[in-house]
Amino acid sequence: MKPKEHLILALDVPNRNEALRLVKLLGNEVGLFKVGWQLFMAEGPKILLDLARNLKASRIFLDLKIYDIFNTLRGALRQIGPEVAFITIHSNLAAGGLTSILNDLDSDFKVLAVTLLTTQTGEDVRAQGYASKYATDPTQLVLLRAKLAQAAGCHGVICSGREVNAVKEACGPQFLAVCPGIRPGWAEVPEDDQRRVVTPYEAMKNGADYIVVGRSILTAADPVAAARRVVAELAAGLADRTAEM
Ligand code: C5P
Repeated sequence: MKPKEHLILALDVPNRNEALRLVKLLGNEVGLFKVGWQLFMAEGPKILLDLARNLKASRIFLDLKIYDIFNTLRGALRQIGPEVAFITIHSNLAAGGLTSILNDLDSDFKVLAVTLLTTQTGEDVRAQGYASKYATDPTQLVLLRAKLAQAAGCHGVICSGREVNAVKEACGPQFLAVCPGIRPGWAEVPEDDQRRVVTPYEAMKNGADYIVVGRSILTAADPVAAARRVVAELAAGLADRTAEM
């Protein structure tokens, strides 16, 4: 993989025109484009095909963090077309009947389980009533959920760059780790909601397969330059990781 292929751009924008503009502008700078709730709500599922028409390979990450009963989940997953490379589900689904749903899927997309949102901290975990060992050390909750997701047949997880090392140690190198909550040292994100943040360098050095970046690139004065800077930093992390192996 080329370094830029490890970068996923979050298309957190209000409409199709803006999304297509970014795909054209940054198509050569990043690996995948992530469609989340904002764009999906604005444009509906047809946005996936619109974007795919402007991309050569299957390079769309559909991030809807699905959490529903298995019958509904099965029905939803069957609707997803070949333009989608990654989708997200909630890791709570990993306990129970998820395995048979994933086994029955006749599609190529990878299923990633969201462990703990990167906007959440140990205090949030405590407020949700989890045992204090998870509140004291949220990595333990991420690990529990990653192991359940792996046992259920998910291809990988979404976790922060702070936990990725532990996830890789517990689940092995083939189990994908995709990391949002990326904040380069130079990025300025006003009213930032992210909490468990790391730099592109740290996430890749710690073992991430992909990093997800939104506002640090989207709100930069020069998004192309910002994307290139992120790629240079992630490449350095990747090189240092490889050198240590
Ligand atoms: O703008 P920023 O770089 O914070 O964007 C991060 C992206 O990753 C957003 O699209 C957000 O929805 C997504 N995400 C996240 N934390 C997760 C899963 C997805 O921030 N656990």
